[in-house]
Amino acid sequence: MASRTPISRGRRSAVPEGLNETWAKDLTDQFRRTLSTKRMNALTRQTTQQHTQAPNAPPSYSSLRNIPLVATAPSDRNSLRFRSMLLSLSNTPCRWENPGLLDEALRSIPLERIYDQAQEESDLYLAEAASLGTNTKAAWGYQDCVVRALMKWFKHHFFQWINNPKCGACHAPTIAVGMAAPLPDEQARGANRVEIYQCSNAQCQAHERFPRYSDAFVLLQTRRGRVGEWANCFSMLCRAVGSRVRWVWNSEDHVWTEVYSEHRKRWVHVDAVEEVWDQPLLYTHGWKKKLAYCIAFSADGCQDVTRRYVRNFGKYGLPRTKAQESAVLHIIAEIKNMRRRDMNKTDKFRLEGEDIREDKEFRQNVIESLSREICRMLPGRPDADMLKAQERAREAQLARARNQQNAQYFNPRDQQQQ
Ligand SMILES: [Zn+2]
Repeated sequence: MASRTPISRGRRSAVPEGLNETWAKDLTDQFRRTLSTKRMNALTRQTTQQHTQAPNAPPSYSSLRNIPLVATAPSDRNSLRFRSMLLSLSNTPCRWENPGLLDEALRSIPLERIYDQAQEESDLYLAEAASLGTNTKAAWGYQDCVVRALMKWFKHHFFQWINNPKCGACHAPTIAVGMAAPLPDEQARGANRVEIYQCSNAQCQAHERFPRYSDAFVLLQTRRGRVGEWANCFSMLCRAVGSRVRWVWNSEDHVWTEVYSEHRKRWVHVDAVEEVWDQPLLYTHGWKKKLAYCIAFSADGCQDVTRRYVRNFGKYGLPRTKAQESAVLHIIAEIKNMRRRDMNKTDKFRLEGEDIREDKEFRQNVIESLSREICRMLPGRPDADMLKAQERAREAQLARARNQQNAQYFNPRDQQQQ
């Protein structure tokens, strides 16, 4: 549908109604002035920082934003430590690449219901597109709708959020008392740490163990945990239903999923805990959280996707001090090469094309963020936020229609049958 295409594409064409011909020139001048002020401010900040920082402290990310970087092998202690951490994290999605276990995982999913629901929703998107004109493409494709249906089922009918586990003996609430080493059987199932809780009931006082399993296939049985377990198990199930998937690690203690939409030809943000689809600004604009690094790992690549989640670095970016920026580039390229080492030329070429398109998308994000700032400065100019709000209202209306349909598929009675 036309309103879903990137804002810049629609806006480039004509002078909006009611504006004179100097509009474009005015806007360009304003843009130049804003950019120039921004750069001057950045330079001033940089100079002040250089005086106050220790001589060997890594420069802040914001000071490097406008300088083209060359990937350099990490050599300082911080960068080397960051490299080992990223290498270790990058194994997570590779552990899901087991066809036998993925097939088995499919057996935990009510596939027929999920496929039916996906079909209904994708039909609705098609009808919506058709009503808007012959050249309009549906907002999402069938496979996107499969992942959306999977997410709803996963959150409401499959996985449980655990803060403090209930007492196994009397079901009373428990209080955290510390950590313990995993027992041999817990260790065998991939738990690397175990939290210990004590029952709050004075007559009981039993201890409850909460092993933190990191094996997505074990989580299919335990079906509980916090954000780490949720993202791990849900991402693996996305893989099981045939999507290309990324596991996104964030330095501020969050993880989530990205799936590749063949229909939209781009990676889509998915947070199963929040039941959120394609809302990458949830953490910054929504939660007002500041982020430093968001790194996406998949079985066939690795990408610094921070620019998808942090559009306004001045407001929502945290200083990136874990490694030199040139080293981060090097580490990501190193992991990417490792994952693609045994691929044939055609696949490598296709993935490189994808990386280039994604980089373009990230640059577009920065441009859109800048132009929004400018629009806010110009009275009476078309306001991007207002347009977005209108689009959100329209989407909410459609979502209500869809929810009515979902209710037929996922009602509380079904849960007891599982
Ligand atoms: Zn108890």
